[in-house]
Amino acid sequence: MALNLYHRHGSNCAGGRSLHEMTYESDELRRNWKRCSCPIYASGTLSGHFRRKNTERSIWPEAKTCRIGLGSHWDLGRQSNNTTATTCPGTATPR
Ligand SMILES: [Zn+2]
Repeated sequence: MALNLYHRHGSNCAGGRSLHEMTYESDELRRNWKRCSCPIYASGTLSGHFRRKNTERSIWPEAKTCRIGLGSHWDLGRQSNNTTATTCPGTATPR
């Protein structure tokens, strides 16, 4: 299963991005990138269905950790009730 991570920017983006503009980690490696606190989303196709989740992280290292959890969460959700859901969303540290 392939999951993509991207920033999805909001209307109050600190970096001045457009509403719903999507940027990827490679975009943000540019020297003149302005960091913002918009959430990073994980998206991918599972069993032919496109899924998207808000990792509720705004920095890549944390979002990547979250992606791993989301991936297994998606897998588990297919065949069983997932009472052991990832703790990623909802535990974001306030910034
Ligand atoms: Zn933003």
